[in-house]
Order: sequence, then C-alpha cells, then structure tokens
Amino acid sequence: MTKDIDSKSGKIIGILGGGQLGSMLAIAASKLGLKTHIYSSSKDSPAFNYSTKYTIADYDDEIALKNFIKEIDIATIEFENIPEQTLNYISDYVPLYPNKESIFLSQDRFLEKNFIRENSIDVADFMPINNIDDIKKWDFNLRPGILKTRKFGYDGKGQKIVTTAKMCEKYFIEMNNSPCIIEEVVPFNMEVSTITARSQDGSIEMFEPSRNIHKNHILHTSNIPSGLSNALIEKLHAISKLIISKLNYIGVLSIEFFITNNNIMVNEIAPRVHNSGHWTMDGANISQFEQHIRAISNLPIVEPKTLHSLEMLNIIGNDIYYWEKSNDNEVRKIHIYGKKGIKSGRKLGHVNSIKKSKS
Ligand code: AMP
Repeated sequence: MTKDIDSKSGKIIGILGGGQLGSMLAIAASKLGLKTHIYSSSKDSPAFNYSTKYTIADYDDEIALKNFIKEIDIATIEFENIPEQTLNYISDYVPLYPNKESIFLSQDRFLEKNFIRENSIDVADFMPINNIDDIKKWDFNLRPGILKTRKFGYDGKGQKIVTTAKMCEKYFIEMNNSPCIIEEVVPFNMEVSTITARSQDGSIEMFEPSRNIHKNHILHTSNIPSGLSNALIEKLHAISKLIISKLNYIGVLSIEFFITNNNIMVNEIAPRVHNSGHWTMDGANISQFEQHIRAISNLPIVEPKTLHSLEMLNIIGNDIYYWEKSNDNEVRKIHIYGKKGIKSGRKLGHVNSIKKSKS
C-alpha cells in the first residue's frame, strides 16, 4: 500500500540517517516550507537539531519503522549503507527517492563497477575477490592493485594497496575474508566530481564539476572552477546524464571521477548529496540540498548557476586551525556540524572560501 502524496504544502519527508548531510537537507526542506522526520540509530545525531521530528532506533527495528512510515509522505537517505530489508520495507509503503535499486548498486562496489562497465563507461580494471584462490587470478608481476571491500567502505576504510599476492592474502584475511574487489591503481592527474539532479518528469540539471583533493583517502578540498576544458566538462556531463537516466533516478546523484592523460574513469557513485557539493551552499544560486529536496518533492528543479570561484575545505578532526587563518583575498563562510566530540578523521564542518573578485 502506498500513501497518496500531497504535492502541495504539508508534505513530510522522512530522512534515513542523521549526520551533517541530514542536517543540511532538513534546513533546505524547512526553507521550502516542508517538514522532515529524521530516523537515525545514533542518539547524538546532529540532524535532530533541525528536523521537525526524529526517531532514534536501529535500522532494522520493525516497530519503529512502522511508526516512521505512518508519519511520512516520501522517504530519502543521507547515507547509503542502510540494510536491504529496511529499504524494501520502506519502499513498499512510501515512495523512496532515489529508488532502492540505485542504493543497492552503490552499496556493492562489484555491482557498481559492473554497471558502469556495462554502460560502456571506463572504470579502473577490476576483479572480484570472493576467496583466497581468486587472488591468484591477479598478475602482481604486471601491476599492483587496491584491495577494497565490496560493502561498507567509505573515506578509504576497507582499502589497502597490495603489491604482492602474499600481501593481498594477508589483508583479505584481516578483512575477515569478506567479499572484495581488487582494482588497478589509476595514475590520475586529477579527481573531479559531478552533482546531477533528476526530477520526477525526467528533466536533468547539473552543477559544474569540482576539482577534489583527498588526504588519507578523505576529501580535503573542492575547487570551483575545476580548470577542466569545456570539452572535458561536456564529457563529464554526458556520462553523468547517462548514468542518472539509466538508473531512472530521482533526486541528487554524485559521481566521482579520475581524469588521466587521455581518459575519464568513474571511480564511485553516491546516491545522495555529497561532500564535494558543499561549495554550492555559498557558491551557486541553489544548493545541492535544496535541489535534492525539490526533485524528490515534485517541485521544479533549478538550473544551477555558479556565482563565485571558491574553495571548500573540510574541517577534519584536529585540523581546526585551518579555518582560523584569515586571508584578505577571500570571504570565508564557516559551517559547523555540531558533532559530539573531536575524533581523528571525523568531519566536523567545512569552510567555503569565496575568492574576492579584483575590482
Ligand atoms: P574510494 O572510497 O574508492 O572513493 O577511494 C577514496 C580515494 O582513494 C579516492 O578518491 C582516490 O583518491 C583514492 N583511490 C581509490 N581508488 C583508487 C584507484 N583505483 N587508483 C588510485 N587512487 C584510488
């Protein structure tokens, strides 16, 4: 049974996950006059500060989920690692955007990379490692590889560079023999990402791509403009449009790419708003968060226009000093997430440094 949706006012958007992305989605929704209900397993979720309602319960708590779906009109996610049964259950009762198939695909690196390859888009050469014997199939004399768990990896967690079969075996065992992939190490010149929105009528809008720098596998900065040629930007847009359409996706989709000397490769798909799109909050006529809320609520999506050159800098763990240093050539907009406690590798906020135009 699916509840009727009132596409006018009063719609309640259920959001699975209560981190900073949930906070920024809830703020964007409230600015459009829409209500949100955050569902999170953590009692310290920062998004509770901004939503109309919240539920603290495990993602497989059937009673809590039953009550949740009674109170919402549509559902969305702010992180992808939500149990399959939960997504199946929710989408049986309310429209889930993006669709569960897109989320399942992004939960499993092997399925995700297969999907990309099947659509004739380049990805780093890869192979599944489901057991120790599979490791023999990768020729380490030819090239090293990166061993990555198929599921639950993020910000470089569950990833190791491996140069020999012995080393690969060691890490595979350390990863509890959980299904993995091994992929070639890409000698990229640049990492970039696209943020694309698709509405319920199938129209698509894209922000300009950002150039991203990672430190210890975690996003450090995103820069606008990316410095890419128009021809490359057009190619990135074409690939992103193909992927979002093939997935029959509604909402904001983020895609990370490697740019090599003569190639564009997709690295990863995130079925949600993304850290590399935080620049849009201060650098564009619409933020990625408002665009997502618009798309899933059946409101018209907006053609993004870049207003400023800027750099988005993540505040991670003890990096707190970065944003205290001021610079006359830029205006800094600081966003703090309100997380409980400073922890190494934890994303605590971000700073958008808008470059002042010289007049
Ligand atoms: P991922 O979680 O797969 O997006 O990886 C996080 C970061 O690790 C990427 O943004 C890259 O900086 C680096 N990385 C991941 N896979 C590769 C690869 N095959 N070759 C080179 N660098 C990689």
